[in-house]
Amino acid sequence: MINIAKIREDFPILNRKVNGKPLIYFDNAATSQTPQRVIDEIVNYYSNYNANIHRGVHTLSQEATDLYEAARLKIQKHFNAKHSYEVILTSGTTHGINLVANGFSTLLHKGDEVLVSALEHHSNIVPWQMLCERTGATLKVIPMNEHGELIMSTYEELLSEQTKLVFVNHISNALGTINPIKQMIDMAHKVGAAILIDGAQSCPHIKPDVQELDVDFYVTSAHKMCGPTGVGMLYGKEEWLNKLPPYQGGGEMIDQVTFAKTTYAGLPHKFEAGTPNICGGIAFGAAVDYMNAIGFDAIASYEHKLLNYATKQLLKIDGLKIYGTAKEKTSVISFNIEGIHPYDIGTILDKMGIAVRTGHHCAQPIMDFFKIPGTVRASFAFYNTKEEIDALVKGVETAKMMLS
Ligand SMILES: *Cc1c(COP(=O)(O)O)cnc(C)c1O
Repeated sequence: MINIAKIREDFPILNRKVNGKPLIYFDNAATSQTPQRVIDEIVNYYSNYNANIHRGVHTLSQEATDLYEAARLKIQKHFNAKHSYEVILTSGTTHGINLVANGFSTLLHKGDEVLVSALEHHSNIVPWQMLCERTGATLKVIPMNEHGELIMSTYEELLSEQTKLVFVNHISNALGTINPIKQMIDMAHKVGAAILIDGAQSCPHIKPDVQELDVDFYVTSAHKMCGPTGVGMLYGKEEWLNKLPPYQGGGEMIDQVTFAKTTYAGLPHKFEAGTPNICGGIAFGAAVDYMNAIGFDAIASYEHKLLNYATKQLLKIDGLKIYGTAKEKTSVISFNIEGIHPYDIGTILDKMGIAVRTGHHCAQPIMDFFKIPGTVRASFAFYNTKEEIDALVKGVETAKMMLS
């Protein structure tokens, strides 16, 4: 059970006012808010431990290294990776995807096929297009239906011996659709393809088990799950990470360097060139602890209630259409009101202290599918309330009156 009053006390930002009104933060799919415990960890790091890691003999450097590596272990445990060295700390989802895409440059050839879903964020489209341009491989798209669900029968038809890679998000940031990734992973493996799951949008809501999923790569960003920006995780199966060449060269990722030849460090350091976001990594660990203390079952069931309530209330507004009506979805509602531009609704809501996102949500192909320029997106987290949803509904009604 969620103790909402107590949870809200953990988030100092929820006390602030925006345009003279109490902040109502419904842009959680873009970035989540940060609990005091994670903020404290950041302050503590810079107040007491700031040093470069892995290289120093001095106490500070060793303590910072211990904290950073302890965070890696927390993240490993959270996602149930078999080995801690399969957890690569990145700057975020985008970095993780680019790292894998770049690595596959040497493994793909003309005639190979790469499948990507119609529901993707630009960061899970563009790197693969670039990869296909470099290698001559062909990009094919797994289509979706009117509800924003992937069409599994077409996915099955698209899979063949030519398929080398599949990329799909666990949950769509634009529509909230939860994709049947376990099934998709098993189907990819049947034809011998590797599969990468973009988990940026799932990790705030559910706790993925990478071994049970048997997934080859799983990427996420800390800032979508109560951690800081600029840090994230790439999980990769050991065998795959060993097959991929390093992404960036630099310090930390080497074994021996001479001008004749350089040999690379083992995992995970091979993929962690340069000084990482040390504080961010440690705070990511704190965010994982924080969310687990609340519990993902409690989070999911509470957010589901918010989703159902908000859907019901919003649909009472005449002319309001919700995009993304998949059976399995998380607490994201994308909508428009007939004849009104989403941007105008967002601007009026902001005057009322309500933060929503408007636009294409880095997923232009989805907007093209629905033949719209964008939507208003309200995305809820476990620290939101029913009362805030009532305020949103009232706000949208007011905006509609002002604009029509
Ligand atoms: C936010 C998001 C990304 C990008 O994450 P960054 O932290 O900006 O790298 C990618 N995919 C999905 C589904 C997202 O929601």
